[in-house]
Amino acid sequence: MNLAAAAEAPYKDPSIPIETRVSDLLSRMTIQEKIGQMAQIDRTVASQEVIRDFGIGSVLNGGESAPAPGATPAMWADMIDGYQKAAMSTRLGIPVVYGTDAIHGHNCIVGSTIFPHNIGLGAARDEDLMVRIGRATALEVLATGVPYPFAPCIAVCRDPRWGRCYESYSEDTGIVRSMSKIILGLQGFPPTNHTSGYPFVAQGGGYVMGCAKHFAGDGGTEEGIDEHNTVSTYEDLSRIHLLPYIDAMAMGVSSVMVSFSSWNDVKMHAHRFLITQILKQEMSFQGLVISDWEGVDRITSPPGLNYTNSLEAAVNAGIDMIMVPLDYEKFCKSMNYLVSSGQIPISRIDDAVTRILRVKFILGLFERPMADRSLFSMFGHERHKELAREAVRKSLVLLKNGKGEEKMLPLSKNAPKILVAGSHAHNIGNQCGGWTLSWQGSSGNTTKGITILEGIKKAVSKETQVVFEERPDEKFLSENNDLSYAIVVVGELPYAEFLGDSKELRLALDGEEMIKTVCSSKVKCLVIIVSGRPVVIEPYVDMMEALVAAWLPGSEAGHGIADVIFGDFDFHGKLPRTWFRRVDQLPMNYGDPHYDPLYPLGFGLQMNNSSLSDGNVSSSSSSSV
Ligand code: BGC
Repeated sequence: MNLAAAAEAPYKDPSIPIETRVSDLLSRMTIQEKIGQMAQIDRTVASQEVIRDFGIGSVLNGGESAPAPGATPAMWADMIDGYQKAAMSTRLGIPVVYGTDAIHGHNCIVGSTIFPHNIGLGAARDEDLMVRIGRATALEVLATGVPYPFAPCIAVCRDPRWGRCYESYSEDTGIVRSMSKIILGLQGFPPTNHTSGYPFVAQGGGYVMGCAKHFAGDGGTEEGIDEHNTVSTYEDLSRIHLLPYIDAMAMGVSSVMVSFSSWNDVKMHAHRFLITQILKQEMSFQGLVISDWEGVDRITSPPGLNYTNSLEAAVNAGIDMIMVPLDYEKFCKSMNYLVSSGQIPISRIDDAVTRILRVKFILGLFERPMADRSLFSMFGHERHKELAREAVRKSLVLLKNGKGEEKMLPLSKNAPKILVAGSHAHNIGNQCGGWTLSWQGSSGNTTKGITILEGIKKAVSKETQVVFEERPDEKFLSENNDLSYAIVVVGELPYAEFLGDSKELRLALDGEEMIKTVCSSKVKCLVIIVSGRPVVIEPYVDMMEALVAAWLPGSEAGHGIADVIFGDFDFHGKLPRTWFRRVDQLPMNYGDPHYDPLYPLGFGLQMNNSSLSDGNVSSSSSSSV
């Protein structure tokens, strides 16, 4: 450290308390520099000149791969270092913080470890596993130069028709609270020798900044419509949707992302009461409040509102950083105007920038702005793949095993000939779901991993003939009348956000037909559902010998599923949400007066058909908000 520089600019001195560094730096900044810090721009428009000229505070790549499809960790590190070089060359040398949607592992880059989506982790109910997944994800993002993953989503999804249901751990607040322990793994535990005495974010151990999202009530919208309206009393909002934020605060989460949705018809992005009074004041949140993607541009009511009005509403409501202002030049101009006209008080700007600088100091970005290339070996590490395999094993929920006394599982590894069928049996993209290499995800060979078919092939004996037929028909089945058993793997196709909203909740690609054809033949049939939520299956359950919910298990699905169905491990997962009978029952949550599910929240069998007990369901479940 250059002592002369530190003497002349205390904020450069890592040995002094973070709060002192923040106020020193803040006191040196012009209004333009402060406004620039408040912008997070998409990497497709983020040139070095833009970062320098506007003093941009943050860059992101959202859910898409960067800088190009198939990019390596080194290409990521080079890209982010390029932005960082530009930021460090500004007058005060304030680093950018780079963000990405690493929501089930570092899911925007080929070869990373893709963990099960949150709904599967909600079935696993293992806090220690969550901490370990958080740590592994932190290492994989850091290995590519990213200090800011937009995770975890701590939405309490009350209606599976919501396209983001799988991003939610559960319909039950207690389960969501417990799974939010991932924050400790992502950010690291507060170290004992932390000089700032800061309550959050361990630093230096190589951890990242977490982001609890989407504040608040995102999972409670009417009919599960994405970005829609959550109607409730404050008491219900608090009991069901706000409690996980209190835990996130206690664990020291560094940032909170605001929801696109509204609460009682007021857009969350303009909700001063909830953002400032509740989150920042009552919950004492000291970290960074970030908008969602173009969230400010989407404040469009009351009619006649222009962009400047929306910005004023959002910043005055308490948003500190604006993710993707549609037009960052207009953003800077409008902010300038709002500050100079007194519509946004300078104290509000100072609060926002204080929070932004604080997290940057805590992350150590001033001292170590560039990617740590010694971490490359952590990317897609074997240990992480093992961990994802464990997560898959623990997330599987056994819903049915055999008809009458006769059980089907565990399956024999020594059967002479077995059939593996269905659209999801041999498809990495389908088993990973949305937010995998692209925002919506896609079917096919999108990243490295092991398909369910491959896992089965590896697990069975050398003598076993595994026949794979994606769409077997009656002719095929009668020609192959020597099958020992069949495994039918069907489910939903990848989707994300509003594009996943569904009123039907049906299996994709003739999944129902596949179940009917195979399970009504002579062969015994295990059905594995690969989906982001419960789907309509009641009419077909009687035909099946056995039924397993596998959720969206990610890159290691094949190994994890084979570990369990062949009996090396028993089932462990319990339903993280109610499995409805018919969509006309929705919304239906545990504790509702007319609760009549196909399988209740918490249901799950072990191989011997005994039920796994559920100690985790909280009383907050009883309300349909
Ligand atoms: C989503 C967020 C996400 C952000 C950045 C938005 O569309 O709602 O969950 O973090 O995009 O990609």
